[in-house]
Amino acid sequence: MSQCSGGSCQTCSDDPDRLPPGMLRRYDLNESTADGVMVWIEADGGKVSRPSAEILAAAKGLTDGRVYGIIFGDAGLKSEYPRIFGYGVDTLYHVRGIASYSPEAYAEAVSQVAERVNPAAILVSATPRGRELAPRIASLLGAGLTADCTRLESDGRRIVMTRPAFGGNLMADIECVGFPQMATVRPGVFPLPEPKEGKGTAIYWQYPPEQDSGVVSEEAVQTEAADISDARILIALGAGIRDRGLVDVAEEIAASIDGAMVCCSRAVAERGWLPRSRQVGMSGRTVRPDLYVAFGISGAVQHRVGISGAKRIIAVNRDPEAPIHAFSDLSLLTDAEEALKELRDLVAGKPRRRSS
Ligand SMILES: Cc1cc2nc3c(=O)[nH]c(=O)nc-3n(C[C@H](O)[C@H](O)[C@H](O)COP(=O)(O)OP(=O)(O)OC[C@H]3O[C@@H](n4cnc5c(N)ncnc54)[C@H](O)[C@@H]3O)c2cc1C
Repeated sequence: MSQCSGGSCQTCSDDPDRLPPGMLRRYDLNESTADGVMVWIEADGGKVSRPSAEILAAAKGLTDGRVYGIIFGDAGLKSEYPRIFGYGVDTLYHVRGIASYSPEAYAEAVSQVAERVNPAAILVSATPRGRELAPRIASLLGAGLTADCTRLESDGRRIVMTRPAFGGNLMADIECVGFPQMATVRPGVFPLPEPKEGKGTAIYWQYPPEQDSGVVSEEAVQTEAADISDARILIALGAGIRDRGLVDVAEEIAASIDGAMVCCSRAVAERGWLPRSRQVGMSGRTVRPDLYVAFGISGAVQHRVGISGAKRIIAVNRDPEAPIHAFSDLSLLTDAEEALKELRDLVAGKPRRRSS
């Protein structure tokens, strides 16, 4: 009889992959060492974009490890370093050598830095560029990606990512099975932090400039100067408003209150009464005003998801069964059109009218 102790000896084992006793079958270096959170920082006109600032400030609370930032652009971005470190970034990778935005080159550079850093998670804001970039990074790294998250919760390493599913009818909690875990995060999900200055380590990362693809043409997208995500007070119009002229009335009210803007539900944006950039909800913006006054809005889950960060909600809806009443701080069971006109008179200092 053989004195062989087993293991990889094929005389007494049919399994050619069997290892000697005491040896582990596989040791996944990535899985056991992945640590920290890496955030792609979008620079808008040489400044850190608002959605990136929101994610950067939240990243510290999602990891027990380090926060890494990665930013693309020329040396002019150095003036942003103190702000970036102030948001909690420990190490900043500044990628140089890519003349203009290219999703392929950006994704490759992010994945190269990620391979060096080995973060447990990579977060990207769900802006048009972020949505373009994140799947490319995920594909290069073989990572799982949860798109368009509306909440992130972490035990310091593993992140539970929440996003609307099945047409927004339920919120799904998703965990990536491997590392790095990847998510795109909707702008407005985390509050915008107060800017402050800080210190950290900045590393230049030179990316090879040779690219086999380039930008053919660039067209500026017309956007409104003011953004409803910044508004302190929002006057929101829903399908319960039937008279189009009341959009002007709402604009009048907003114009006379500091920090106020008019926004709407998808039903109103679809009528073309207000631009898409004013639509609140799952396929619109996420807002965090101090006060959200909803006129003739039912409170469908796809709308609600966009206002969960509002400090106070007032619902003006004559249907006591409308879902919005269940998550409002104050409900006015009255005619929304009349209420809008009365509010306009009130802020204009006119004597209050009463409809017959
Ligand atoms: C994939 C997907 C994404 C979506 N994304 C969004 C999104 O981003 N944002 C969004 O808003 N919706 C979105 N929706 C649509 C959403 O499901 C609702 O259809 C929409 O929010 C309804 O808008 P509303 O509340 O204005 O209209 P309605 O649901 O028609 O509600 C109108 C309300 O006004 C009340 N009312 C009527 N007349 C008066 C009056 N004179 N005075 C007082 N109250 C009155 C009614 O009682 C009713 O409650 C999405 C849907 C899908 C499937």
